Amino acid sequence: MARTVIVSDVHANLVALEAVLRASESGGPIDAIWSLGDCVGYGPQPGECIARLKGFEAAMVAGNHERAATGAIGIEDFNPDAATAAQWTKERLSPEEKSFLDALTEVEQQSRFTLVHGTLRWPIWEYLYSSEAALGHFALQQTPFGLVGHTHVPMLVVEDRTSFEGCQLFRLADGEKVDLDQNVRMILNPGSVGQPRDGDARASYAVYDAEAMSITLHRVEYAIDVTQKLMTDAGLPRWLIERLSAGR
Ligand code: ZN
Repeated sequence: MARTVIVSDVHANLVALEAVLRASESGGPIDAIWSLGDCVGYGPQPGECIARLKGFEAAMVAGNHERAATGAIGIEDFNPDAATAAQWTKERLSPEEKSFLDALTEVEQQSRFTLVHGTLRWPIWEYLYSSEAALGHFALQQTPFGLVGHTHVPMLVVEDRTSFEGCQLFRLADGEKVDLDQNVRMILNPGSVGQPRDGDARASYAVYDAEAMSITLHRVEYAIDVTQKLMTDAGLPRWLIERLSAGR
């Protein structure tokens, strides 16, 4: 059984990432990991998260936080807390870690999937929340299935040319399974491992089963207080620490 673990927005939260990997491995061996961007930024263990994903030879695309962490883009477009965290991250990454992040592309194809952090229209910045953004993305998607992150909210978009909107958007809950059909184009967002924002504080991720042709969304509890303590010790902004408990 070929199983691929799909993670996004790990945000340097190693405790959450380890919980996701443990939970995934308990369901059977992991054959691959795909990371949809923002593996660093906000959280206290950026280098450790990069190393963990590299260890799995994960297919990774860059998000806005990878770019900010290396200085490839400025932090003017970040809110003050995000900018503080980006600066903190930048000071802690080694030159090797930065060149690794700089080498990541913004769009990557893996079998029938296109991986991108935001949307294909605006890879590291656009939030795919609306049918308008989804249609813009679909117009550029050359594979049946797309995988995006950035919003930190698990979601499924199904193309439906017969409907007025052109597609339908659904929130995904823990345990929900999506059957893939080659003839129905879809975009899936696995939610965020390291900083969920849908009101559920548990780490969010998805598992793609290539034989069953399905993707299942999962939530897993992790020791939020351990990450929060590391963030406090690092002097990271208070709101970033508090929001982990709320999942907002
Ligand atoms: Zn993010």
